[in-house]
Order: sequence, then structure tokens, then C-alpha cells
Amino acid sequence: MSDLDPYPDSRAARDAWILARRVGIARTEKLHPRHPSHWLRESEPDPAGGQASILTVFLTNKECPWRCLMCDLWRHTLEETVPVGAIPEQLDRALAADQVEHPRRAQWLKLYNAGSFFDSQAIPAADWPKLALKAQSFERLVVECHPKLIRDDRILPFHRLLGSGTRLELALGLETAHPEVLERLNKGIDRETFQRSAHWIRHHDMDLRVFVLVKPPFLNESEALEWACRSIDFAFDCGANTISLIPTRSGNGALESLATRGEFAPPRPETLESALAYGIQLGRGRVFADTWDLEKLEPDAIRCSSLRARLEEANQMQRI
Ligand code: SF4
Repeated sequence: MSDLDPYPDSRAARDAWILARRVGIARTEKLHPRHPSHWLRESEPDPAGGQASILTVFLTNKECPWRCLMCDLWRHTLEETVPVGAIPEQLDRALAADQVEHPRRAQWLKLYNAGSFFDSQAIPAADWPKLALKAQSFERLVVECHPKLIRDDRILPFHRLLGSGTRLELALGLETAHPEVLERLNKGIDRETFQRSAHWIRHHDMDLRVFVLVKPPFLNESEALEWACRSIDFAFDCGANTISLIPTRSGNGALESLATRGEFAPPRPETLESALAYGIQLGRGRVFADTWDLEKLEPDAIRCSSLRARLEEANQMQRI
């Protein structure tokens, strides 16, 4: 394997190319199948103009079966499916720990699992009744899902278990609306697949959150801003209520290889800020910029802290 090997055209060859570049990159140590990998409290503007307090739980489960070019979430996963009962136990632990630190219960619950909630290898379907029951004490439940798993037989039974008192929001990665780049990201979807899944979600009266990458590989800085804005438009046209802008970050081996070939570099901070400003000023829904690992975008500590403050304020106020 060499960094100079070009990125392949076929799906199977890409999977192998991406996997080969993981060598030497460790998974997170000490993940336990009965403990969440992390949990935190955050807040977000709600659709009514207030602020919702949110408990976000990062579940520990089996790695996602897709091999997206930019993904490093596999680092926080296990190689095998967790036993039935382990995921509800993880949620119990997070709820108990949250209760110790916060006397008031969060309004929303996010269950993020570094993959798809409706992938039965990750979250056993036998655990759905317990999970739905626990989620019923929240106003809203947000879960991630690959667009190809948005299907009647997966989502509707869980939605019925959840009941009408808790709003179900599905978070889908569009990544980019650029047709060729989307294909090369190896996610196994095209714009039409995404559109169909999004319409299914809205048709079944659920909410849609969309992840958009800012500056995926193969785009220069000005193309990156143009396509972040076009992706925001596309996501809103598909019925998105919320869009989360994710600056593309290296760290999975594959992006480092592309960087050596001049086919990837992280976005400049101003590209992220401009995309956020564009999305917010549209007024079509809530748009957030992801602020995790911002130092990869802005290594200067003072400028990074000021960038973080500006992004967090824009996220919270939905105003630039
Ligand atoms: S579908 Fe999501 S979790 Fe799975 S490899 Fe792609 S980006 Fe990663």
C-alpha cells in the first residue's frame, strides 16, 4: 500500500483501499458493551424559538457496515454485536449519571451510535421496546440512520412503540449534494436515494436532521463553499428541519492519504462560517456548525477560541 495509490473507481476496490489505510490507527480503548462510550448535556434552539436541554448518549455498539471515505466513527465501536439488553443498560447508566449532575431532566434525548440505530447488528431489535419505553419520558428522540435503512419494516414498528407523545427525529448523512463527490464518498447512496428516504420520513410525520460535510475531498475551497450552500438548499428542499454542518476532518488514514495526493485538505474556518451564515439567513430551518475538534481547522489557540465562541453563539441564537 502506498499513499500514491490512486483512489479506486469501483465500490469493492474502494472498501479495500479505505480499510487498508486504517492500519496503525487504534480504536478507542476500554469500550465496554454495557457502558455508553460517552454522554453529555447540551442545548439547542427548539422549533418554537426556545432552548431545549438535551441529553446526548453515545452508545457503544458494533461498527457500521458501510465504509465511507471520510468516516472515523469506527474508532469508537466494537467489532462484534453487543448482547441483547446491553444497549438499554447503557442508556440506564447515562440516565442515572445525568440525574446525579442535573436535577432537572433533559427535554430531548439523542441516541447516537456511530452508525445506524436501525442496523440490527448495532442495536438489536429485541431491545427496541425497552429503549422506546425509556425514551417516552422525553419530548423528542433523535437517532442516526443510513438513508438506505429508512424502510417501513425498520422504522414503523419502533415508531409505534415510541408512541405519539415523543417526536421521532431521524438524522441522516447527506454529506454532499455534489453528485460525483457523493458517489466517491463510498456511502452507497446518490441524491435520489437520499431524496426518497427524506420524503418517506416527512410523509410519516417524523422530523429530519441532515448532516452536510463542509469541504469533502476532491473539492477546492471555493467549490467547497458553493457545494456546502447547494447541499443546504438540497437538504431543505428534501424537507430537513435541522442541518448540521460538519467540517471534514482527517484522522481515519484515508483522508491523510488523499491529502498526500493533494485531493483533501480541511476547510478554512471562514468557509465553515460562511456556509453557516448562508444556511441561517435562509430562515428555512435550524442550521448548526459542528464545533468538535475545531483546532484541526484553526491551530492558533487564540483564533480558535474566538472562532468557537462565534460559532457557538450563531448556533444558539440562529443569528449571525
Ligand atoms: S454510514 Fe455513517 S457511520 Fe457508517 S461509515 Fe458512513 S459515515 Fe460512518
